Amino acid sequence: MSGVYSIAIDLGGTIIKIGLIQEAEIVRFSTIPSDSERGLLHMLPKMERAIDALLLEEGIGVADLSAIGLAFPGMVNPIECRVISTNDKYDDACHIDLCRWADDHWGIPLVLENDARLAVIGEWLYGAAKGSGNVVMMTIGTGIGTGVILDNKPLVGYHHQAGSLGGHLVVDYRGRLCSCGNVGCVEAMASSFFLGDIIRSNGRVSPEFKEQASDWNFKRLFELMRQGDTDATIICEECMNVWSAAIVSYIHAYDPEVVVLGGGIMRSADIILPYINRRVDDRAWTPVDKVRIVLSELGDNAALLGLNYYLAKVKREENETIFRV
Ligand SMILES: [Zn+2]
Repeated sequence: MSGVYSIAIDLGGTIIKIGLIQEAEIVRFSTIPSDSERGLLHMLPKMERAIDALLLEEGIGVADLSAIGLAFPGMVNPIECRVISTNDKYDDACHIDLCRWADDHWGIPLVLENDARLAVIGEWLYGAAKGSGNVVMMTIGTGIGTGVILDNKPLVGYHHQAGSLGGHLVVDYRGRLCSCGNVGCVEAMASSFFLGDIIRSNGRVSPEFKEQASDWNFKRLFELMRQGDTDATIICEECMNVWSAAIVSYIHAYDPEVVVLGGGIMRSADIILPYINRRVDDRAWTPVDKVRIVLSELGDNAALLGLNYYLAKVKREENETIFRV
């Protein structure tokens, strides 16, 4: 029988989170700083050392591990265990054989999945959407990621990208050029990545405010909005209107029971949640029932715990194979 532990890795833009998982619980955890623009290859030795250190701290060996799971911030083909497209993070990953990496170092299988899809799986199984079979999650970080649970299953699609591209849904076809090559995507119109441009191109905010555009971040803007600052309020409301428009479209596309909002921006959930709930209630065509819009419960750990969905499957399949033999 394979080991009772597994390793879950979440490749973030600036931090890589590594968890040692047992029975759907993160029993040990470590982080290593990352420079995702420099690619993934140079990070692999550091990840190996961090994983080996976790095993040592827990007093277990490689034989106690069943699999490694990797949450990747780009499109992946989990069947062929490969990254198929990146967007300015770990751009060399399409050419790295990650399954071979795991096999070479620990002799165990690796499962790979998109990080936003894993976040919704985590919230669906263990967090804010537990008990609901139809869920959309929107993670508003530097960019915007989405994932969908439809009829009690993660939505995957023919090219493995269904539900993952909610940040690139067009909210203004005459809008700003997005990093994906399209124009007017949710991410281009309202995300941290484009915040400087969003402020500079707004005709209603003061020139003094625009001069500092590169210094502003959403945390500061929402603080200023709370204090009644007019310019910050204009920008925050504009972005919340864009996120609301996107959520209305997710609701029309996927018919969820609950929409989970996550990401660093939700530190200002006291402003964002009521605002978006009101606006979506007014605009979504949901004659039977209102869709609940709630805050993520798992926060930064959603993708790590979501990996457990696949890691448990690997463990089950391995054990079944061994029993058959
Ligand atoms: Zn886009």
